[in-house]
Amino acid sequence: MKVTDGVHAFLWQSYSENNCNTYLIEGEKRILVDPGHRHLLAHVDRGLKEAGISREGIDAVLITHAHPDHLEAIGEFSPPALFAMNQREYELFNQYAAGYMTLPEPDFFLAEGDLAIGDIRLQVILAPGHSPASVCLYWPEKKVLISGDVVFAQGIGRTDMPGGSGKALMQSIRRLAALDVEYLLTGHGEIVAGREEVRKNFAEIEKTWFPYLR
Ligand SMILES: [Zn+2]
Repeated sequence: MKVTDGVHAFLWQSYSENNCNTYLIEGEKRILVDPGHRHLLAHVDRGLKEAGISREGIDAVLITHAHPDHLEAIGEFSPPALFAMNQREYELFNQYAAGYMTLPEPDFFLAEGDLAIGDIRLQVILAPGHSPASVCLYWPEKKVLISGDVVFAQGIGRTDMPGGSGKALMQSIRRLAALDVEYLLTGHGEIVAGREEVRKNFAEIEKTWFPYLR
């Protein structure tokens, strides 16, 4: 579905099988965020088709964090698409997944700071907690925040996986809550649309979940 000009969401809506939401950002270049599981890639293909492009039209694939339900299909795009993720996440993935899955070599790494791809200017926000070096992607021009598994509609990422931390997650969510966001594009479940809805979502999360994070 089209979220706003230049932003498409391919939401994963099956409850019988886990997979992530995938996002397409379009400007001079086309960026795909979190392609998900390889055996479920037909979901992304359908979304791309609806958006009027094919896999070959993707210039770069960005990964929010190194969990298989977000990045397993990366090899289907890279190369020729550029591939980027956080360096620490990449190294940890290789450590844990050694023997059953290998990732292509990233073309560059995602670190805290600005990232320009064509005319698309994103801010990469390092947001640990769900995983040690998750990144969120903020597009100020569109007030779009792609949050990976850090924060959801009425929920937060789990912190019981390797390198997770409740305290770090809380700090990360606080940083995200301070951004001016019109569209909160989450790694799973529904997105949150509208500045007021996004504000309410962060307030609700702080009230409901923060007491459990330490
Ligand atoms: Zn995850």
